[in-house]
Amino acid sequence: MAVWQKPRFTAIIENMVEKAIPRVIPIRIDEGKGLKPSIGSQLVTPHGRTQDMRGRTLRDLRISVTDRCNFRCTYCMPKEVFDQNYPYLAHKELLSFEEITRLTSIFSTLGVEKIRLTGGEPLLRKNLEVLIEMLAQIQTTEGKPLDLTLTTNGSILRKKAAALKAAGLQRLTVSLDGLDDAIFKKMNDVDFPVADVLDGIAAAQEVGFENIKVNMVVKKGTNDHEIVAMAKHFKGSGVILRFIEFMDVGSSNGWNMEQVLPSREVIARIHQAFPLEPIGANYSGEVAQRWRYVDGSGEIGVISSVTQTFCHECTRARISTDGQMYLCLFANEGFDFKTLLRSGKSDLEIANAVMNTWAARDDHYSEIRGSQTANLLSGNRKVEMSYIGG
Ligand code: SAM
Repeated sequence: MAVWQKPRFTAIIENMVEKAIPRVIPIRIDEGKGLKPSIGSQLVTPHGRTQDMRGRTLRDLRISVTDRCNFRCTYCMPKEVFDQNYPYLAHKELLSFEEITRLTSIFSTLGVEKIRLTGGEPLLRKNLEVLIEMLAQIQTTEGKPLDLTLTTNGSILRKKAAALKAAGLQRLTVSLDGLDDAIFKKMNDVDFPVADVLDGIAAAQEVGFENIKVNMVVKKGTNDHEIVAMAKHFKGSGVILRFIEFMDVGSSNGWNMEQVLPSREVIARIHQAFPLEPIGANYSGEVAQRWRYVDGSGEIGVISSVTQTFCHECTRARISTDGQMYLCLFANEGFDFKTLLRSGKSDLEIANAVMNTWAARDDHYSEIRGSQTANLLSGNRKVEMSYIGG
């Protein structure tokens, strides 16, 4: 009997993929294996003055509500790694809405003012609007509502926009990497059309979301020729377009420096078509550098975490889908807050664990990116963005 052989072409592609994108499964911390946060012996009243080893203060929290996504963006969740064998988290491993709300409320007593829900694709988490409603009740230490925002690929925004608004979501960021369908489909790798994302943005505007941000990841040689078309499309629409340098997050996206188009080049290209001038940050620690059109038709932003790093003013912590606290997007270790939450610790104890974890923070990955980070991480893979939250 003839033995079945893989078609030669398939075998060649698989071989190439193996080389370019090593299989790095599992890419998350296994149950109960995260670093143990230290509560300390002397409990102190929660306050927002904790500074880390580099003088940074905790102000923002990003929460990944699911590690699943319906896109397979080649720079984030490439199909070759995130396939049907990928070990996504089981439901019991996810933080529940009650646990997320409790943790957020503890972080708010420590000076956190801004919460971003992300993932994975956050709108895939069932009844997300119920969580938003719960989070919308939490106040900052100054008695104001939290700045509650969400990043989405926009694919089901038409369906969800009204419920998100009614639940109390204040702001939205939608990701879109180009206007050319062929390029966008190649990047999302699930054949998703541009028109449906634009329709999601329109739906959000219809229900009253203002100053929606659109994130475009710029990959040199892939979608950089879409920069000016994107600027032209959103200019004057009230939408704030932000260009993100392709980053070496995770361990599966085959990143290399040659695919990074520096933000100064993005600005130069747009400026040539539509003159721009720089404007100041909205608040200290804002990741985007802001520019406005000289003709008054709006603003854009650039996020240059590769070529103009901003580690020195980073005020963000991240909570992964399964309750690990990460201090840096490029980290390879998280602190296991889920176990603390599930082991009967009080809010005061957990708040002290957060303060101690933040106080010991010393990372500045982007500032030492290159040979030093390669050594730093040798043998240790970075966690994936879909798990830690983008
Ligand atoms: N699914 C949601 C979305 O598509 O916006 C939220 C999660 S996604 C990980 C959050 C943001 O991270 C998106 O704007 C995405 O484009 C960006 N992102 C993912 N991988 C990236 C990379 N390697 N470099 C730069 N940005 C990246």
